[in-house]
Amino acid sequence: MPIKVLDKATVAQIAAGEVVERPASVVKELVENALDAGASQVAVEVRGGGIRSIRVLDNGAGIASTEIELAFERHATSKLDSSADLQAIASLGFRGEALPSIAAVAEVDVVTCAHGAVEGVYVSVREGKVAERKSQARPPGTTVTVRNLFQNVPARLKFLKALSTESGHIANVVSQYALAYPEVGFTLFVDGRKSLGTPGRGQLMDGIIEVYGLETARQMLAIEADEWGDDPVKVTGMVGAPGVSRSGRGSLSFFINRRWVSSRLLAWAVEEAYHGLLPGGRHPVAVLNISLPAAAVDVNIHPAKSEVRFRDERQVFAAVQKAVRRTLVAQSPVPRIEEVAATYAPPSGRERAFWPAAPVGRGTLPSPPETAPPLAVTLPALRVLGQLMGSYIVAEGPDGLYLIDQHAAHERVVFEKVREQRQSRKVEVQGLLEPVPFEVTPRQEAMLGSHREELEEFGFSLEPFGERTYLVRSVPAVLSKGDWPGALWELLDSGEERSDWSEKIAVSIACHSGAVKAGQALGDGEMRELVRQLEKASLPHTCPHGRPTLIHIDAGQLRREFGRG
Ligand code: ADP
Ligand code: MG
Repeated sequence: MPIKVLDKATVAQIAAGEVVERPASVVKELVENALDAGASQVAVEVRGGGIRSIRVLDNGAGIASTEIELAFERHATSKLDSSADLQAIASLGFRGEALPSIAAVAEVDVVTCAHGAVEGVYVSVREGKVAERKSQARPPGTTVTVRNLFQNVPARLKFLKALSTESGHIANVVSQYALAYPEVGFTLFVDGRKSLGTPGRGQLMDGIIEVYGLETARQMLAIEADEWGDDPVKVTGMVGAPGVSRSGRGSLSFFINRRWVSSRLLAWAVEEAYHGLLPGGRHPVAVLNISLPAAAVDVNIHPAKSEVRFRDERQVFAAVQKAVRRTLVAQSPVPRIEEVAATYAPPSGRERAFWPAAPVGRGTLPSPPETAPPLAVTLPALRVLGQLMGSYIVAEGPDGLYLIDQHAAHERVVFEKVREQRQSRKVEVQGLLEPVPFEVTPRQEAMLGSHREELEEFGFSLEPFGERTYLVRSVPAVLSKGDWPGALWELLDSGEERSDWSEKIAVSIACHSGAVKAGQALGDGEMRELVRQLEKASLPHTCPHGRPTLIHIDAGQLRREFGRG
């Protein structure tokens, strides 16, 4: 083919692809515009995963009726004057790309009334061009309605996930801005149902309760101010007490000068601060505002503006890590930290090396070790000799000594039992004495929407009960004395779309059944019973997370260690 310049519509679609990846990107851009316009109220309504329609209403400055056409021109913005302004960007938008990008891949209607204008104006934009225009009454502010997203880009449409997943992403975007702007009242309606609402009273706590629920909110610690206060990097916000943890990194929110960004560097800084305070593979909850001189950060590195580059990475890393650590140390009673540190081993070398490369915001359970321990698959019959340090069972087999991690072994046994019951469709269920209300966040609700059936197959009965609340009537029997809400929360927070949910549910149930812990004295009978069950397990050598359940020292090794040959 000869070289030719692409036609305008194709160029517009290519450029739009960078800004508008999925419905949630549209919501993000429109909410940012509303915030830049100084709105104190922002309402978002979406239908059909945001593909059918997205509407964002604000009470901000509005767009002058003479400037609407311009607003839909590429690289037209009211937020930058000259390239010098690029050095220190104070607004969320600045590229003048969002409205034209959205209009290239969807139908857009705008109703806006600028402050002081006599009347408002309605325009409809089709294929990037204003197709219709008339006066329309509206209080000061702007309403943008986006319909039939990606209808003209079938390739993009194909890559979208289930509607409930897209709604989940949208709920996450609105949640993040509600956390970043406590002085702005946000509402989100998904398919006509209210899914989020913040009062806009200026209290970060309001947003945290709304997004993470009361239970987590109660355990959040406000970041302690820096005693010296002379660091140009200021960190404020809240972090979870060490007892609060999640299976994924989806509960880390970072705002740089109030811009929501994803940053591996910052995630790492926070996790460093929790070093030794969280079990391996678990992640903290944190909502952190980092303010620094606008010139010390470059936000102009990607059209979606969701990543930033710092002039001095080390300085930002250190400020965040210190602020979080300071808070954890100052606000957690000392014995507790020691207790937690003693119970939970710091993440192993492998996990630490693994995680910075993992995408932030996607929850993953720790993956099993790449090389399985070189052991026969089944265990020989073992004779229990006793308990070591309240945590390990010492046993003798025909071929030497076995040290069994009682907690890991028990998890393996419960995991196999749960899986077996599910496969044979004979799940033991425990009805609760009274139904228990279970509150979920908008994102958790979207997860629940996609996976409720699988959860029910494992014995959770969850009945919709008003706004973002479910009534739990029964739980898997093995969890009846364990932490079933913990299991549900872990699953709903995990955010992994493609993994095998049945497996994940079984792991989570095993992990929260909580019967045998490390540091718990076991009687001879209990130890024998646990070892008997482990012998019967199909994969006795690792717990469901992939950690070893036992260490074997064979007779030959013992002989060599004692210099017997
Ligand atoms: P940018 O935000 O980067 O300037 P956009 O394409 O998102 O680019 O918007 C173009 C312009 O339209 C903005 O600079 C602003 O002047 C105006 N605008 C867009 N949305 C709103 C809104 N909700 N309220 C007031 N003005 C708006
Ligand atoms: Mg914008």
